[in-house]
Amino acid sequence: AAPARLLDTAVFDLIDQEKTRQTHGLELIASENYASEQVMAAQGSVLTNKYAEGLPGKRYYGGCEIVDQVEQLAIDRVKELFGVAWANVQPHSGAQANAAVFLACLQPGDKILGFDLSHGGHLTHGSAVNFSGKLYQPSFYGVERETGLIDWSKIKDIARRERPKMIICGASAYSRDWDYAALRAAADEVGALLLADISHPSGLIATGLLNSPFDYCDIVTTTTHKTLRGPRGGLIMLGKDFDNPFGLKTPKGEIRPMSALLDSGVFPGTQGGPLEHVIAAKAVAFGEALTDDFKTYTQQVARNAQALAQGFMGLGYNIISGGTDNHLMLIDLRSKGLSGKLAENTLVRADITINKNMVPFDDKSPFVTSGIRIGSAAVTTRGLGESDMGRIVELIDETLTHHDNDTRIGQVRQRVNTWLQDYPLFA
Ligand code: PLP
Repeated sequence: AAPARLLDTAVFDLIDQEKTRQTHGLELIASENYASEQVMAAQGSVLTNKYAEGLPGKRYYGGCEIVDQVEQLAIDRVKELFGVAWANVQPHSGAQANAAVFLACLQPGDKILGFDLSHGGHLTHGSAVNFSGKLYQPSFYGVERETGLIDWSKIKDIARRERPKMIICGASAYSRDWDYAALRAAADEVGALLLADISHPSGLIATGLLNSPFDYCDIVTTTTHKTLRGPRGGLIMLGKDFDNPFGLKTPKGEIRPMSALLDSGVFPGTQGGPLEHVIAAKAVAFGEALTDDFKTYTQQVARNAQALAQGFMGLGYNIISGGTDNHLMLIDLRSKGLSGKLAENTLVRADITINKNMVPFDDKSPFVTSGIRIGSAAVTTRGLGESDMGRIVELIDETLTHHDNDTRIGQVRQRVNTWLQDYPLFA
């Protein structure tokens, strides 16, 4: 018999503590969500034991007959969900998905054009501290100072000047929808590939609430754990497959279609064995996302975000761009005399989690910041609706207004904890 193993209380006590934290607190971090019990069960399954380098039906290991079916299920479901021709479900994360695309499509030193990190872009779109800014030559577009909006007409001019080989759209903190047609026009102007990283709004795109990138963008990447509500992970998709435009070759020297190139960008390009337990959890999440319930969920996510934005603006908070089309918003706290760091640290004492965030044209460092980012995906999963958003705004305002008053903050924490007892999270 296998040796009995002692319960590792050091780890499992911490997991219990984290469960309590998640249960007691208001989760407003825009990139987070609560995966379902089924998603977590699949991720915590025996599939973690299996090596399966390669793709379904073409593996470098024996015994892959079952994980082949798991991975194929994930692929088939995600193709149906987004209506796409091809998908690779193996990227371990959003950053890994982007790394695989860059490796497959670009040569070191090639030029890329992305959305400025300090305006809401992501590290993997050309930041100097990330592989994307170290291996490639980045330039950036941003938002207008007066409106907080991207001026789509300007991207073509920047592209003409910079002549990037790839243009990247998508963001971590932009609350408005994307004009993929305008980005396509800019890419066509200079023969660039167009990559959409829809990590944040992918759940809302899957259910048709936001513009679809697939008719305009050559390649689409996403995380699976934000509004898509799956396990932590990444994904690469093609609306339609096409011959790669730059004569790029696989490591074996073959010129292949983009799908094959991207497959090799994931493995062997940037990853080893796929995480089949996570892929199983992705398959579960994609199945959930195909239901009417998920569509209703994403509609509520958008309505809740709008209610939050309205509530904050009603109390004089400065929402960048004056509102939101998706699940998140960026609040510039300078008019309230607060930094993002102070706000984050204060709110966590009231069991409210958000994250400090640079705002466009910020004069503070990324460790301090002038803003916070707030998202509605997790609280909506929890069961809160529009009528609850005013209460969230009030609790946040009370906490920030009295950031140096421990008693007031303790009272808010009590109210948060008591309120959320009516919304149990885990079975
Ligand atoms: N791309 C965008 C736009 C993101 O917002 C994120 C995550 O915040 C990522 C990529 C990276 O995802 P991950 O944290 O899974 O690597």
